[in-house]
Amino acid sequence: MESPSQTPIQNECRQCCSFCDQVVLPSGCVAAGCRYLYFYDEDRSGRRYMGCLNKIFRVEIDVELFQEAQRTRQGYGGVRLTAAPLPVCEVAVEQAYDGAGEAFECVNPGFFDVPDDDRAIDLRDRL
Ligand code: SF4
Ligand code: SF4
Repeated sequence: MESPSQTPIQNECRQCCSFCDQVVLPSGCVAAGCRYLYFYDEDRSGRRYMGCLNKIFRVEIDVELFQEAQRTRQGYGGVRLTAAPLPVCEVAVEQAYDGAGEAFECVNPGFFDVPDDDRAIDLRDRL
């Protein structure tokens, strides 16, 4: 059975004006039918939420809002990565700002490597 690392990870970089965050895409959790994806119904609000048992991401996502966003061209997007991902997790780097010139030149290319030595994926492919 896969065992995730709960070692805190450096999930953001602010070394240039692009402002990058490492994220996990919940759409990937759903598509993979991940066994660590849980759902629960909140009695008071009647809303359904989903989250990750492994805390690869820590936020709990409103399922209805997620589904609405998924129907748009942009999709729901990513949520902050909070632990080293498993091979099943779909991860990416999201850049807050897309500019030109020296202020936006990456000085930390290692940030685009998945924070897990076993994975040889370059997140730049998913920008
Ligand atoms: S382990 Fe990864 S794929 Fe599974 S629910 Fe958590 S973040 Fe999603
Ligand atoms: S582009 Fe590179 S240096 Fe700039 S914020 Fe992103 S990872 Fe950091």
